[in-house]
Amino acid sequence: MRASPLCFAGLLTATAAFAQSPDDARFRSIYKELVEINTTESAGDTLIAANAMAKRLLDAGFPAADVQVISTAPRKGNLVARLRGTGAKKPMLLTAHLDVVEAKREDWDFDPFVLQETDGYFRARGSIDDKAEASIFLSNLIRLHDEGAKPERDIILALTTDEELADSPHDGTRVLLEQHRDLIDAEFAINEGGGGTLREGKPISSNIQLSEKVYRSFRLEVKDPGGHSALPRRDNAITKLAEALVRVADYEFPARLNTVTGAYLQIVTRLDTPEVKAAFAALQAGDNRPDVIAPLSKKPGYNAQIRTTCVATMLEAGHAENAMAQTARAIVNCRLLPDENPANVERALNEAIHDPRVAVAPLGTVVDSPASPMSPEVLRAVEEISADIWPGVPVIPTQSGGYTDSRWLRKYGVPAYGVSGIFSEEGKSGVHGLNEQVGVKQLFDAKEFLYRLVSRLSVTQR
Ligand SMILES: [Zn+2]
Repeated sequence: MRASPLCFAGLLTATAAFAQSPDDARFRSIYKELVEINTTESAGDTLIAANAMAKRLLDAGFPAADVQVISTAPRKGNLVARLRGTGAKKPMLLTAHLDVVEAKREDWDFDPFVLQETDGYFRARGSIDDKAEASIFLSNLIRLHDEGAKPERDIILALTTDEELADSPHDGTRVLLEQHRDLIDAEFAINEGGGGTLREGKPISSNIQLSEKVYRSFRLEVKDPGGHSALPRRDNAITKLAEALVRVADYEFPARLNTVTGAYLQIVTRLDTPEVKAAFAALQAGDNRPDVIAPLSKKPGYNAQIRTTCVATMLEAGHAENAMAQTARAIVNCRLLPDENPANVERALNEAIHDPRVAVAPLGTVVDSPASPMSPEVLRAVEEISADIWPGVPVIPTQSGGYTDSRWLRKYGVPAYGVSGIFSEEGKSGVHGLNEQVGVKQLFDAKEFLYRLVSRLSVTQR
């Protein structure tokens, strides 16, 4: 069931910035409100965000029984809401996280918690990750409710906390799955992790995420007697640790392809340079010699697809300016290919560091999450709606270099599909980094895309 005629929808999205429909205005207001609620771990509060979004639904006329805020700790909240369907089909789950990565005002070009709209972009922390999709899901759910939609399945919305903290006991998706499964149980879930890629402003792929690399951090630690800095020794803790980190940086895990990454790179490298194409062809043929595949390895986006990666992310050492450190520590964060054995990664790090004074210890738990099975229903819907909005742009199955809460959904048997319709320029979104941004047109196109996708997958009649 197509939600609205194509030409009309195209006109709407093309002129969204100028003539604002009431629906667009509501979406903007939800998006601005959500982005401007600080939800960082250090100073923010996802409970405030969950309550604010719950109020939006209640004000729109959702029954209180279908809107629940679940808090599992101070400053931590999750919203679960339900638009009731006929029950002919098992529910579908729309999920997004409310928390955001830290953002320091002094590092950014503007206040990260005040939504900026300039040069055709929205800019703020969370402007993409993940308050874009959270706001779209919420706004579209209200739109469906206002339209008196009668879907064949319940549409469940879960806006959750602590996705950005690797090993939080309060991870909302995990808590909901383990303690409130009935509230969010679904045939499948739509989550972040997909989106689309722009190259020089032109859409080149619309992505559906089916699997993720596995997250694992290690602590590197060097102990030393220390001593007066006026009598230095070269083998002090900080220098030893620094040498170890350089060796980690220089170490490359062997490259290999799997079904998802093979299909993905096959399509995206078509538009790339002859050198990249040749490197991919070699890797496909089983040649993974570093010099042969260097053109792929040099691009962080490709590199993350073809191998397990590790990078130093945190440092801590020393107790006084005029003393040699007694302890030096670093965190090395690794992203494992889904079939990589974590014990092999630890062994490889130890071999690369090759220094018995550097202790390497794994941190946290590894969340095993299999790839979601490809659902022909979901894939066909994504392909057809994508073709309407972005004609000629291929839909590509992807494996994310980072993790999302889909790892928990997949672990607990809810197939999760990373689909957002949010297109952004490769390497320029600022997600997890500085000056996070999304194109205004791209955001409104994604809203329309997800509206049609959810309508179609829930077989909404009106
Ligand atoms: Zn995210």
